[in-house]
Amino acid sequence: MTDHSTDIKTMLRSANLRPTRQRVLLAGLLFGPTKCHVNADVLAQKIAQMGEHMATATIYNCLHQFEAAGLLQRVPSGDDGITFDTNIAKHHHFLVEETGELIDIPFGDLQADVPQAPTGYEIESVEMVVKIRKIS
Ligand SMILES: [Zn+2]
Repeated sequence: MTDHSTDIKTMLRSANLRPTRQRVLLAGLLFGPTKCHVNADVLAQKIAQMGEHMATATIYNCLHQFEAAGLLQRVPSGDDGITFDTNIAKHHHFLVEETGELIDIPFGDLQADVPQAPTGYEIESVEMVVKIRKIS
């Protein structure tokens, strides 16, 4: 047993999630030293490369449980897959159009002119996706 997997189990327990084999496997891929953006398809591939198998639906279930526990947040990138972010601080994103890669923008680095919310609504948060492309 490695220190990393002990840490993962401790982290899951302190988030009130039982450290099942599937959760430990996924959390091990997600919560490393660097923050990352992931979706279930990418995780399914990584798991397959490890010689394991987990259904995409199961992965989604786990990701939603992690999200509900505050370990992840969803990226409002508007892409077809649901992308999750291990950086749970408020921040914005650059989206590289060709590759779909997301790059974090620190929250204070982007000032927005936001219109007033429609009558009966209030603005809860503003998270922006700035689409970028490589200059050829
Ligand atoms: Zn991010």
